This record gives sequence, structure tokens and C-alpha cells, in this order.
Amino acid sequence: MGRLIKSNVYYRLPVVNNLFACIMKKAVFFDRDGTILSLVYDKNHGIVRTPLSPREVEFMPHIVSLCKKIKSKGYKLFILSNQPDIGLGRITQKTFNAIQNNLESYFAKYDIAFDGYYYCFHHPYAKIAPYKKMCVCRKPNPGLLFQAAKEHNIDLINSWMIGDGVNDVLAGHKAGCKTILIANNLESGHLSLATKHLKNTKPDYIVKKLKEILSII
Ligand SMILES: [Mg+2]
Ligand SMILES: [Zn+2]
Repeated sequence: MGRLIKSNVYYRLPVVNNLFACIMKKAVFFDRDGTILSLVYDKNHGIVRTPLSPREVEFMPHIVSLCKKIKSKGYKLFILSNQPDIGLGRITQKTFNAIQNNLESYFAKYDIAFDGYYYCFHHPYAKIAPYKKMCVCRKPNPGLLFQAAKEHNIDLINSWMIGDGVNDVLAGHKAGCKTILIANNLESGHLSLATKHLKNTKPDYIVKKLKEILSII
């Protein structure tokens, strides 16, 4: 009797596996700053930084056509981003929400809805208690990718992580995704610096502009 049940289990396994493969979805995970939103040149400090107010929100060229293409190919769409600025006391939760609303309403105008937003608000040196933490979700850790995959049944092997930072490539690679590095500032040595930090981890593609991704995915 025991034998019979056992062979039954073996017989059924491939069927179950195929079923899971069918249900699982592929996804494209985008970083936010420097990937979806343009970085801001802060002339007071002579640096390029993330937008710190809704007025500073501008969108990267070709992001709309890229998101439309990705959706049309059956990918789910996510934003995965480190956002330590609340914890570091640079912006309030209210400002963060205003930036988020700005982002969502911009894409809504083009009939694009992201399937999820996954933000890590932690930072090892955060000034505000709940955010001061060594967490598993801050990229280059892959925690946000695993969380999104679990909640949306994502097949990470057939998914992409796209970002302008070394941390995006490392997190995507650790999660088993294909990765694209946007190195839009080649003149300033961005790429050579990125390659140095990546060590043995190679992005699958390095592009200068989002437009180039249209022919990759
Ligand atoms: Mg970025
Ligand atoms: Zn975190």
C-alpha cells in the first residue's frame, strides 16, 4: 500500500511543477532615483542627488514608452528603492508621500500602474529610531526582491533588475535576476567606478539611456 502512494506522488510531481511554472509571473524591477526619476543637480553643494521635494520630481526620458513595452510583454512592474532620507532627517514622511503621489499620478496619465512599490527606509546611521537598522532589505541586499517575489509569485530567474547604481546590480544578481546598469554619466567616470565596485559581478547589459532597453527586454 505504501509503495502505491509513493509512486503516485512521483507521478504527480512534474504536473505540479508545470503548474507552478505557469502561475509564476516574470517582472521588471526598477530602481527609483536616477532610473525612473531624474537626479537633481544641487548647485549649492555641487552634487547630484535624489529629489527631496515634489517640485524637484522629473522623469527620465523614455521611461513611459519603456514601461508600456514591458507591460505589453507580460511583465509585472515594480519599483524597489532605498529611501533613507526620512530616517536621516532630510525629508518628512509627508514629503515622501507627496513625491510618491506625484510619481503615481504621472504614470496614471499614461495608463500605467505599477504592480507594487517596495521601499527600504532603513539606514545604519539613521537619526530616527525605528529606521536605524542593519536590515536585509537595503540594496545591495536582495530582501526587497525576495519580498516582492513572494507576495506576487514572481519567477526571479526570468525577471530583470534595472538601476543606475552598483547596489541595484548586486541586489538583482543575488536574487538571480538578469540585470541592466544605466551608466548615463560615462564622461564622469561613472562606469569605471561602477565596474570597480562590482568586482566580479557583471551586469547583463550596460546602457547609457533607457531607450536602449527597449530592444533588450
Ligand atoms: Mg538610483
Ligand atoms: Zn531595509
